Amino acid sequence: MARAAVSGGLKLRRTWRPAVLVERRQETPSACSLVLEVPGWPGHLAGQHLDIRLTAPDGYQAARSYSLAAPAEGEQVDITVQGVPEGEVSSYLVGDARAGDSVEVRGPVGGWFVWKPEQSGPVLLVAGGSGVVPLMAMIRTRDGINGAPFRLIYSVRGPEDRIYHDELRRRAAEDGELNVTFIYTRTAPEDEPRPAGRISLDDLVSYGWPAETEPTCYVCGPTGFVETVSDLLIFLGHDSTRIRTERFGPSGP
Ligand SMILES: Cc1cc2nc3c(=O)[nH]c(=O)nc-3n(C[C@H](O)[C@H](O)[C@H](O)COP(=O)(O)OP(=O)(O)OC[C@H]3O[C@@H](n4cnc5c(N)ncnc54)[C@H](O)[C@@H]3O)c2cc1C
Repeated sequence: MARAAVSGGLKLRRTWRPAVLVERRQETPSACSLVLEVPGWPGHLAGQHLDIRLTAPDGYQAARSYSLAAPAEGEQVDITVQGVPEGEVSSYLVGDARAGDSVEVRGPVGGWFVWKPEQSGPVLLVAGGSGVVPLMAMIRTRDGINGAPFRLIYSVRGPEDRIYHDELRRRAAEDGELNVTFIYTRTAPEDEPRPAGRISLDDLVSYGWPAETEPTCYVCGPTGFVETVSDLLIFLGHDSTRIRTERFGPSGP
């Protein structure tokens, strides 16, 4: 009986569902958030993603994965897409998708790279580029539920690439248990004391948690970024079983 219920749930998550784009918000010059209405959406956990499938008039189809950016609101889900140069699906979603467009989605997908409100211990979030999306879902889910202390270290090329910048600044100003640090790899703002450069051991020491506090660490971004940060965290003494990673490499066929 229980097995039938579980396999029924899995089948539902693997089934493509029709969805309609109901809202789009420009986040940066090259990234936008999309709100999708998905009839029958079963709900999701912070950190999970969905797959989205586009179908061209000639029947050609392309599917990609996108992290869920916020807790579900009824049957509405949020994703944030960073345009990739020459990217087949991201270019369409960022450049052409409009409210009223129909797509298909399936999910939610993923069970390890998740944060649940009952986890009350400290959390370190380390994002590279659009890797901030599932980490933002954790920050938004945590809001008002429990006071687990969160520290976010968010690596971007320059100020114009900061997704959710205003919301992150506002949340950090209002919430003493949320700390947000931007790391600029190419161009730092004039008033930024840290010179532009890739994330380093010093950054993780200065803006992360000491290993003795045993934080759960979530690291998300391009594959090379995730591997570098994971190695640095292990070097600093963090237990590998508490380091959870998600790589945003190419997900198409
Ligand atoms: C679990 C998971 C969650 C993801 N969540 C998000 C998300 O929340 N937001 C988001 O914007 N993306 C996310 N991605 C990445 C997304 O699935 C696509 O890979 C990305 O949008 C590029 O797809 P595309 O069709 O535009 O590019 P493609 O046409 O597939 O590729 C075009 C070119 O870009 C390169 N490329 C492909 N993907 C990337 C990438 N991610 N970074 C840099 N170069 C790339 C390819 O190698 C190729 O050269 C996620 C990926 C995974 C696996």
